[in-house]
Amino acid sequence: MAGGWAKDGAVSEQIEASVNDELARMKARRTPQGESLKFCADCEEEIPEARRTAVPGVKLCIECMQDRDASFQARGGINRRGSKDSQLK
Ligand SMILES: [Zn+2]
Repeated sequence: MAGGWAKDGAVSEQIEASVNDELARMKARRTPQGESLKFCADCEEEIPEARRTAVPGVKLCIECMQDRDASFQARGGINRRGSKDSQLK
């Protein structure tokens, strides 16, 4: 009897743990950015309050964000050109 109860307890503890895991993951997905930073994570320039209010969870100043966007677009362009080349071959 006592063994049976202990077994049940262990199983529900495992279920509870995985549910908590899942909840934590969902929460992280919903708020991936966290809190806004007062200073840019890249160049440590102060991020204006207006920007921090407009972009919740902002981590970079406008300049660094634009740099990042530009390099992301450049990579996309290279990839597109690369796949075009392979189609021609
Ligand atoms: Zn910056």
